[in-house]
Amino acid sequence: MPKVIVNRTLSEAAFKLAQRVLVGGVNSPVRAASAVGGQPVFLDRAQGPFVYDIDGNEYVDLVGSWGPAIVGHAHPVVVEAVQATASKGLSFGACCPLETELAQIIVSAIPSIDVLRFVNSGTEATMSAVRLCRAATGRSKIVKFLGCYHGHSDGLLVAAGSGATTFGIPDSAGVTREIAELTLLAPFNDLPAVQQLFDLHGSDIAGILVEPIAGNMGYIEPAQGFLDGLRQLCDRHSSLLIFDEVMTGFRTAWGGYQVLVNARPDITCLGKVIGGGMPVAAYGARRELMELVSPLGPMYQAGTLSGNPLGMASGIATLNLCKKPGFYDSLQASASQLVEVFISAADSAGVSLQGGSCGGMLGIAFSSTEVHDYSDAQACDHQLFASFYRAMLDHGVWLPPSGYEALFISSAHDQECMERIGAAARESFAAIVK
Ligand SMILES: *Cc1c(COP(=O)(O)O)cnc(C)c1O
Repeated sequence: MPKVIVNRTLSEAAFKLAQRVLVGGVNSPVRAASAVGGQPVFLDRAQGPFVYDIDGNEYVDLVGSWGPAIVGHAHPVVVEAVQATASKGLSFGACCPLETELAQIIVSAIPSIDVLRFVNSGTEATMSAVRLCRAATGRSKIVKFLGCYHGHSDGLLVAAGSGATTFGIPDSAGVTREIAELTLLAPFNDLPAVQQLFDLHGSDIAGILVEPIAGNMGYIEPAQGFLDGLRQLCDRHSSLLIFDEVMTGFRTAWGGYQVLVNARPDITCLGKVIGGGMPVAAYGARRELMELVSPLGPMYQAGTLSGNPLGMASGIATLNLCKKPGFYDSLQASASQLVEVFISAADSAGVSLQGGSCGGMLGIAFSSTEVHDYSDAQACDHQLFASFYRAMLDHGVWLPPSGYEALFISSAHDQECMERIGAAARESFAAIVK
């Protein structure tokens, strides 16, 4: 029986100290764990499928740094590549062959990309992809889906307006109404709603931006025909289709979800796994589109640390490990086994749980009905998730601290991890379901 963690004294002290000098004590809001009524646990190190907090407690990690840790934390091959590269200098602000090497791996894996540009975060990738989409079409409006997350650039922090209007309203203080109105919103998986936006604004729509599997409102797969329908609408209206594969790229399959389902976006955004834990992201497309980007074309976009050698070395080493035959098959097997582990533990406690997985990405949702869009995701029992999160943490399992997040496993998660997670889930449900 896994022992229950009671001592997080050092984390508590570290959080107090952090709050004096870091906004809310964190550098990304979800880490504050406020959605689950917890408080942040401070980590010291991570190895394979485990993370270790500064009090010395060990957790089976199901966050994987939000996706990048696909070969497990601190994989010796990745660490060695980064160390060897670091000893030659951390950043040049100039060209280095490692940039070409990582780009070659990505371009050869994703048929829709001939040429790409590296940036430092998914936010930059989607922001630049939207700019490219506007540069190419000369149009201003972008369609995005409710509950999809594309980073924190102004035009993508947009919520649905009132029922009578189709354009978005600011979803954050500091985002202007003028910018928000350039973003049109539709529910995920709702092709008729997108059709309606094109009926009203077709000639102004530069493109559609979509997560091919939605991973920022839990885990929601595209319905049959949804992505194809978006492709057809874009073709019919001369708009561009952008896949935000920052999460799904090299996580759901070699290349990404588009490779798995043979989809054909115009522009693709990547991040997370392609940096193997370093701040690396990219946007790419067919050659004539990318040639609109500076220095070849009129669209400006730049980055002091873009393509830096450390990120490139980490990405190359990680992707080379992912490229091994059977890598994604065995990830998929573990992910679907894990979904079953959660469902059976919930079942024995009389709790309804939905779950799904693709490659090394999975999701669970406390709902008795299937989850297809953001309103379904909102209707899940997030109170129960919060209790489950806290109980699992005390039983040594590191879940994402919000019911609106996907879970991630790595090739380092073995049968022993599965058993530990199963035992922790059974005990957690027993403790929280009266
Ligand atoms: C994580 C994520 C982003 C943002 O990436 P950052 O590196 O956090 O800026 C964008 N899109 C999707 C789909 C993501 O999952």
